[in-house]
Amino acid sequence: MAETKATCPYCGVGCGVIIQHDGARVIEVRGDPDHPANFGRLCSKGSTLHFTARPETRLIFPELRQGRAEPRARVSWEQALDTAADRFASVIAEHGPDAVGFYLSGQLLTEDYYVFNKLAKGLIATNNVDTNSRLCMSSAVAAYKQTLGADAPPCAYEDFDHTDCLLIAGANPAFAHPIAFRRIEAAKAARPGMKIIVVDPRRTDTAASADLHLAILPGTDIWLFNAMLHVLLWEGYVNMPWVREHTEGFEALREAVREATPATAAQICGVNEADIITAARWWGEAQAPLSLWCMGLNQSHHGTHNGTALIALSLAVGKIGTPGCGPFSLTGQPNAMGGREVGGLSNLLSGHRDLANPAHRAEVAALWGIESVPEKPGLSAVELFEAVREGKVKALWIACTNPAHSMPQQALIREALEKCEFVVLQEAYANTETAAYADLLLPALTWAEKEGTVTNTERRITHVNAAIPGPGETRADWAIARDFALCLGAKLGRKDVHRLFAYPNAESVFLEHAESTRDRDLDITGLSYAVLDELGPQQWPFPAGASEGRSRLYADGKFETESGKAKFVVPATTLTSEAIDARYPLRLTTGRLRDQWHGMSRTGKAARLYAHVDEPRIELNKADIERRGLRDGDLVSVKSRRGKVVLRAYATEEIKPGHAFIAMHWGRNLLSSSGANELTLNTVDPFSKQPELKHAAVQIEKV
Ligand code: SF4
Repeated sequence: MAETKATCPYCGVGCGVIIQHDGARVIEVRGDPDHPANFGRLCSKGSTLHFTARPETRLIFPELRQGRAEPRARVSWEQALDTAADRFASVIAEHGPDAVGFYLSGQLLTEDYYVFNKLAKGLIATNNVDTNSRLCMSSAVAAYKQTLGADAPPCAYEDFDHTDCLLIAGANPAFAHPIAFRRIEAAKAARPGMKIIVVDPRRTDTAASADLHLAILPGTDIWLFNAMLHVLLWEGYVNMPWVREHTEGFEALREAVREATPATAAQICGVNEADIITAARWWGEAQAPLSLWCMGLNQSHHGTHNGTALIALSLAVGKIGTPGCGPFSLTGQPNAMGGREVGGLSNLLSGHRDLANPAHRAEVAALWGIESVPEKPGLSAVELFEAVREGKVKALWIACTNPAHSMPQQALIREALEKCEFVVLQEAYANTETAAYADLLLPALTWAEKEGTVTNTERRITHVNAAIPGPGETRADWAIARDFALCLGAKLGRKDVHRLFAYPNAESVFLEHAESTRDRDLDITGLSYAVLDELGPQQWPFPAGASEGRSRLYADGKFETESGKAKFVVPATTLTSEAIDARYPLRLTTGRLRDQWHGMSRTGKAARLYAHVDEPRIELNKADIERRGLRDGDLVSVKSRRGKVVLRAYATEEIKPGHAFIAMHWGRNLLSSSGANELTLNTVDPFSKQPELKHAAVQIEKV
């Protein structure tokens, strides 16, 4: 049996796996003992990967339909790409380049992302290229940029071993990032004096392990963090000499948090005043305070300010960049970070450059050898599907993601996909909800079949290898984008297309991407596949001449802002975008289960992963169940102002009265009308454009 090194394709922990195979089939997986993300450990999802590598539900050849009423039929790759290029070229000729769009995925490898970005921004001249990372990490990106000047988590997993106060806000790593959580548990066991504070409306497994659980009301995080800063100020924990030397904007924030007394915040957040003071004191007294956050903060209509308010707590005590310290955002998807590195959002460009910056646009144009990169901002995920629904975007290319499950306010997404003149879906699986809307389906390679790189939560890049060939006529995602670019470029009369997309293999893409990072904050000009294979996975930056990556950033107190100083931001103090009322009296939150991943296109194939939770359900407090005359397992109709789902209801002590929880994993395919995103709303954060997937006001009735 042969062995090949790769990473787990699920969460942003980015665990190394060793794929055991016979050259044709995956037989088994085990954790890679040499990978610094997991040292051989795998969670329930990663350790069952081999059960999911089955060909039955794979898409194995291109399929095309001539009209919406017709079934799709098998076509050759040549016919598929030629048709796609014809349709895109005619839309561009008639309506301009912004009448087409691309919607990508944090599951793609960095090389895939890079070629798609160049295809949209360099060849077609549209910035309408966004990704499901918009639903995941974009608020953390905006928060880091507003405060520290760059999209760069300054910490590393080894900081769990050094922190003496860990503040986990809006994250449930026990379920969503289990191997990182194992490391936190080990750190706590080794140093029982380490304090763990968890901020979460639900008493999750993570919260149950905390020394202090602040079960705040959804949307009140900023009030909590401001009140903690209020206490830090009042009790003299703020490191004023460091703040004066290394930051800007503190006076305005000091003024703003004056009214955020623990008493006021306790009322707004629904927690005890004394607990807020305790949390602030533990933070202020800690030698090495570390914060950790994820979707609970990001998926909010003030997600960016949730992040900046949390980051302010690290800046106020001047503890960032040294062991055990700093604000550390958990990455949701395996390669959301890599996608951002190549500019995989509609407002970004390669090498952490900003589309709005004329100098950055000129640098990328020079790197690519084109006249210019278009200036007009591209559409972010929610905007893109709205533009499709309104008929402004007429041809849409979706790769490796399932928006007919994962986007908020599903009724609008379905309407958009139905109205779109031409939908291309590039996928590994044939049975996703989005596949039903595709005019052209293109079969893609997936985990164990692809080569490239991924970057995990701690900025660590791993070279992922292909263990087995893909089934049927599947192709690598970057190669599909390249082949389409060549075909489209010819139809657009672009004589430079062969130079622009002269990629014989994945590494040629990686090396061009690496060159685009030269002298940027994430400089990886010292990396190649050979270096990664020899030295193992490396954290960026890793410039030419380096012998290892950098664990932590900003240890010298210099930041990536123009002034070199970190910035405090005065945050908005709005709550959720939709309030509860007499008609919709329950606060619904959404999230992940321990043993499932996203829309279950992969984890749904491993029978043992249903042992934890085997069907979609709504969880309610026992008092809410009894008040409605319900019993465990009763079917209920859950309604919001946008839609309705029917599920079984179960009582739990994890949720306070007046709250409800539905896991995000089930959609319309697996049980009709069961997806949480029938209920969620598409209000977005003004800076990150991330939608508020975490909260909606709902009502329930027995059916
Ligand atoms: Fe995979 Fe995340 Fe589990 Fe690691 S923690 S094995 S990356 S799902």
